[in-house]
Amino acid sequence: MKGGVVRKVKPKIFLIGETKIDDVVLQDYLHHVGAPKWKTDAPSDSEKVIEVMGRMCYRSFAPGLNPNVTKVREGNAAYLQHILEVGHGSVLEHANFNFIFADVSRVFTHELVRHRAGTAMSQESLRFVRLDDLGFWLPTVVREDAEVMEIFVRTVAELEALQKLLAKKYDIDGKMPFSKKKQITSAMRRIAPSGLATSIGWSANGRALRHVIEMRTDPGAEEEIRLVFGKVAEMMVKKCPNLMSGYDIEMVDGLPWYKTSHKKV
Ligand SMILES: Cc1cc2nc3c(=O)[nH]c(=O)nc-3n(C[C@H](O)[C@H](O)[C@H](O)COP(=O)(O)OP(=O)(O)OC[C@H]3O[C@@H](n4cnc5c(N)ncnc54)[C@H](O)[C@@H]3O)c2cc1C
Repeated sequence: MKGGVVRKVKPKIFLIGETKIDDVVLQDYLHHVGAPKWKTDAPSDSEKVIEVMGRMCYRSFAPGLNPNVTKVREGNAAYLQHILEVGHGSVLEHANFNFIFADVSRVFTHELVRHRAGTAMSQESLRFVRLDDLGFWLPTVVREDAEVMEIFVRTVAELEALQKLLAKKYDIDGKMPFSKKKQITSAMRRIAPSGLATSIGWSANGRALRHVIEMRTDPGAEEEIRLVFGKVAEMMVKKCPNLMSGYDIEMVDGLPWYKTSHKKV
């Protein structure tokens, strides 16, 4: 906060990584299984790996490759749509996506880390970040009420002032053993507000991603996580349209709600 104004931030989403296929080795496998001519129109490597792993189960790369399989679904869209319809969600776990969510609150990160299955997370340490310039994302009910805004601004200003006071009292920049410094910064973060802007790295497989999008764009979820996962969903639908197919999108309070009539995968 500078000059009595909350440093307002907006949550930001960075999709920094995703599954990549080694096409040379995949071709070796296709030779091995007797389907060297198999091709796919998958829009992404993530959707390709899901299709390959799924087809591997029945050798359904071509009709007759497995004598018990006389007909195969053609194309990535039809193949993934079938997986979603029958609820074979485990195949979706082969694709992984790596996000960094920046300028999100500890309220958001605390909700996000409740999703454990198929995810990995690394959270910015508030022990090593100075808390004397707090960024905040303000929910609609705060933004639309001047009196409430004033209370937020005043509280944030006070909390920042206390951080500076404690830093001075402990002479935090002075020479001291690192272990001592860690004890002090660890104590200081206890009076940091849970609305402060921070960062979290979050990786999820395709199945977990669909699950979290459905749960966290639901109008019953909190505004910030709905905002973030509405954007994640929009990004993912563009990137992996087949993995992310089957959604009905309804706008509620200006935010998208991604619902599916599929079986839960
Ligand atoms: C609107 C909303 C309000 C909430 N309010 C609260 C609250 O007041 N208090 C609170 O504590 N939490 C609350 N939560 C968090 C909620 O209870 C879940 O902990 C959180 O959403 C994680 O979802 P999940 O259980 O599906 O776990 P995920 O880790 O996302 O798991 C995905 C799925 O995998 C399966 N699974 C995962 N782990 C196991 C396991 N150990 N054993 C068997 N199956 C498993 C389940 O089918 C699960 O649905 C809220 C969530 C939402 C969306």
